[in-house]
Amino acid sequence: MNRLALFSELAAACLVAECGKSPVAGNTDPTTSQIVSTNMTVEKVIRTDAEWQKLLTPEQYRITRKKGTERAFSGLYWNNHDPGLYRCVACDLDLFGSDTKFDSGTGWPSFFRPMLENHVATAEDNSLFARRTEVHCARCGAHLGHVFEDGPKPTGLRYCINSAALKFEKK
Ligand SMILES: [Zn+2]
Repeated sequence: MNRLALFSELAAACLVAECGKSPVAGNTDPTTSQIVSTNMTVEKVIRTDAEWQKLLTPEQYRITRKKGTERAFSGLYWNNHDPGLYRCVACDLDLFGSDTKFDSGTGWPSFFRPMLENHVATAEDNSLFARRTEVHCARCGAHLGHVFEDGPKPTGLRYCINSAALKFEKK
């Protein structure tokens, strides 16, 4: 790992945080990873690629860190109707509630709204010759899926999310 590059990246993210420890080159112990605050209300979780690979299953890693997509109707949660909370599989942040989940018929868990606006972030995605809006966890950057504007009321949005990016907590 390039210590200097990592350090400057962390330093930039640490402007308003109290993370005094400098990262140790070659240290892959996930417990010492930096968790830093920004001037947003959501704390950032920053880990190296190698750390994520250790913490996640190969499928979770492929989806969340490599922006993969699980096969439709193959995931754990597309047909889950239990009441509860969907958290980020990588950092545990609460992302979606079962009360906003709806049957989209797509084979992926679909929600019309995140739990909290600032827990889910979006970015333009121009891959696959299509212009889509990518959705990721605001805390750790895990790729979750995409958001489309063909959802139900009240938002008209459809957050099309990979089950592999989620961890369900039954109420
Ligand atoms: Zn996360």
